[in-house]
Amino acid sequence: MPKSLICLLVVLIAVPAISADLSPAELSRAVQKDYDNHLAALFDHFHRNPELSTVEFATAKRMADELRTTGFDVTENVGGTGVVAMLKNGAGPLVMMRADMDGLPVEEKSGLDNASRATQTDPITGNTVFTMHACGHDVHITSLVGTARQMVARRDEWTGTLMLIVQPAEERVLGARAMRDDDIWGRFGKPDYALAFHVNSLDVAGMINVTEGSPYAGADTVDIVIHGVGAHGAHPYAGKDPIVLGSQIVLALQTLVARELPPRASGVVTVGSFHSGTKHNIISDRAHLQLTVRNTSQETRETLLSGIKRIAENMGRVAGLPDDKLPEVIVSEESVPPTVNDPELTRRLKVAWADALGEEKVIFNPTKGMGAEDFPFFTMDPAITSVYWSIGGTPTEDFDRAATGGEPVPSHHSPLFRIAPEPAVTAGVESTVVALLALMQE
Ligand SMILES: [Zn+2]
Ligand SMILES: [Zn+2]
Repeated sequence: MPKSLICLLVVLIAVPAISADLSPAELSRAVQKDYDNHLAALFDHFHRNPELSTVEFATAKRMADELRTTGFDVTENVGGTGVVAMLKNGAGPLVMMRADMDGLPVEEKSGLDNASRATQTDPITGNTVFTMHACGHDVHITSLVGTARQMVARRDEWTGTLMLIVQPAEERVLGARAMRDDDIWGRFGKPDYALAFHVNSLDVAGMINVTEGSPYAGADTVDIVIHGVGAHGAHPYAGKDPIVLGSQIVLALQTLVARELPPRASGVVTVGSFHSGTKHNIISDRAHLQLTVRNTSQETRETLLSGIKRIAENMGRVAGLPDDKLPEVIVSEESVPPTVNDPELTRRLKVAWADALGEEKVIFNPTKGMGAEDFPFFTMDPAITSVYWSIGGTPTEDFDRAATGGEPVPSHHSPLFRIAPEPAVTAGVESTVVALLALMQE
């Protein structure tokens, strides 16, 4: 049998038959049916077999096979293990949907029947480690397959070109940049719109949590090297103690967020590491501070980074260091910009979601923390209008139990992390399909 005919048959068998009209109940029934027939087992497979950032070989292969079988034109090994799947369906916008696929070096202790016992060689340390989908990226890739299958079955309901991206190494904020640097837009076309979502254990399963502002922070990694003058611990006057100076810098840095940022602007300056010295009675000649600095706008970022430099250098002057021995502030090039949603596109999608899935499903539950994402590497330089939303992943009963003194809801990256796959995956597929159908019209 010719290969094209085999492909066609596979497509006909693999993709659920779905009627042409999009009615909310019909969409939800179709996605539920596909979950029961295909996606549940696929999620189970991914959950049991997580792979670490940059070495997601089997995951990428399975995703490429799934998307190819569905009828997409698939290219593998884009920016490492990345996969790009294209489906052209007449004139119209090019819309990109991204799912990240990496797991974490965590030993799963969720108690679930399908808890991962997988191990892998950690590409950073060379050690064999347990791996776990402790951030829920298994929900993202399973949903992407569900979306692909719905969009193929609904070909007559949309027009344009759909680009599905399976991204490696989000947890190390490397993958999006690597795919962009592999000329993804030059090779496959620059999208008119870019979309992505993250499952969130802090929201009720099935809810769509979206902001017209910034869902994820920007992050910078900063080192401060303090040059002291070594001396005997009993003769401090003979040296310049970098531990005392470093301590003053750490405390002075706390005023940046408290006293220099406008109270409604968000920022974090955390000194995560402070190393100096070798022995009780020696004043060291060096101290090294390692910081993570978070922002939600370019202005905040500049205020914090210039403030860190000003404080570190001037505290050095206070300590009486000469200008050529002042503390050095090194801002790593590994900077992640904040994820910022396009307000107009967000409003458009909120209306589409409310109409199709129910107003009560679309919420805004702002995050308390300043976690970062590498999605902005896809959406800036060149700028692409984008929206990034969250899908709830925890059943209401778990929140109720936690509120009455029971077991707390585990956070992302915890060995106890657990997502309710069925409501999360189906909401992931439904919200993505609704967004794509809203955008991909003539
Ligand atoms: Zn994560
Ligand atoms: Zn994540």
